[in-house]
Amino acid sequence: MKIAIPKERRSGEDRVAISPEVAKKLVGLGFQVVVEKGAGSGAALTDAALTDAGATIAATAEETYADAGMVWKIQRPMTAEEGADEVSLLPKGSLLLCHLSAMTNKPLVEALATQGVTAFAMELMPRISRAQSMDILSSQSNLAGYRAVIDGAYEFGRAFPMMMTAAGTVPPARILVFGAGVAGLQAIATAKRMGAVVMATDVRPATKEQVESLGGKFISVDDEAMKTAETSGGYAKEMGEEFRKKQAEAVLKELVRTDIAITTALIPGKPAPVLIDEDMVKQMKPGSIIVDLAVEAGGNCPLAKLGKIVTKHGVKIVGHANMPSRVAADASPLFAKNLLNFITPQVDKETKALSMNYEDQTVSGTCVCKDGVVVHPGLLGEGA
Ligand code: NAD
Repeated sequence: MKIAIPKERRSGEDRVAISPEVAKKLVGLGFQVVVEKGAGSGAALTDAALTDAGATIAATAEETYADAGMVWKIQRPMTAEEGADEVSLLPKGSLLLCHLSAMTNKPLVEALATQGVTAFAMELMPRISRAQSMDILSSQSNLAGYRAVIDGAYEFGRAFPMMMTAAGTVPPARILVFGAGVAGLQAIATAKRMGAVVMATDVRPATKEQVESLGGKFISVDDEAMKTAETSGGYAKEMGEEFRKKQAEAVLKELVRTDIAITTALIPGKPAPVLIDEDMVKQMKPGSIIVDLAVEAGGNCPLAKLGKIVTKHGVKIVGHANMPSRVAADASPLFAKNLLNFITPQVDKETKALSMNYEDQTVSGTCVCKDGVVVHPGLLGEGA
């Protein structure tokens, strides 16, 4: 079976859904790997490195997609209305694996069904231990959390570690992380490694121990309300207004002394919760920084602007879009490995034939359309 890996066409996307290591493994599994010319250029990956690993380079997108049994992408395919019709290039009967953002793009899923494509929305991977190695949200958020600290440090006019020099003492930077999930925990670890004093807050009680194990100080809000803040799927629930007020009070004492606030709080399928409102920004120190990783979901700070760095009330608010793409050379191989780990159990070891087992939770949980129809309960109004 041919696996096609086209060049990503959405603006600002430097990642590619392949690496030499993964290409080699796919060839070993009996697949033919065809990558579009220059697809890895944004991720420091040359065509030569891919051909050395057993892949073939196709000159155009059309040639890449032609006769593919499977297509691996980072971003959801573009439509004619978006300026590049990638949907019509997908061969009928092919399998598509990518970050589809399916729950917010139902018309696209319908178009893929009409095209005869079986699509797997990798962002819907169930949060079970067996699927950790297939989870694109985790692999990419981890790097986003790292990069948020680096971007914050770049914008910050001061140093991170405490330095005692003959000319005087430089105090350590104080970092406050909102949301201690995958991205937040990596931000804490990175900031600690750089010598900062780190605080963090979250609504899920399990995060307290995780923050402390990384050397951060946890800011608790309301222990009673936090007991029921986690869904069975491991995500946070939306908290009420009363909790929000208590949380604002609890964090404000630290926020006024904070140098860099990194916000990562998300609620699946909902706008990101507002955690630093304008009034709180006004009380922050001049020259302090907010890096809002939730900006694509509306932002944890309402003053954050997607794709921009703005200064409000003396505070620089960083709203970079697509953080994982800012670490494309590391994010790409991890993403490709997630896809490889997803399909490997579906390949028959002896015959090397791919046959998706729809009884498998990782397959049924991510499949959004098949045999010409939309199949995911989350898109059929039956609840996610
Ligand atoms: P996420 O990206 O949905 O949210 C980021 C963080 O924001 C979470 O920790 C969440 O609790 C927090 N948050 C939400 N509302 C908040 C608020 N009002 N105030 C403060 N914080 C708030 O979450 P995530 O990083 O993807 O992961 C959450 C959990 O799921 C983690 O414990 C992670 O280890 C687990 N996980 C498990 C698997 C698996 O088992 N396969 C895969 C991925 C993640």
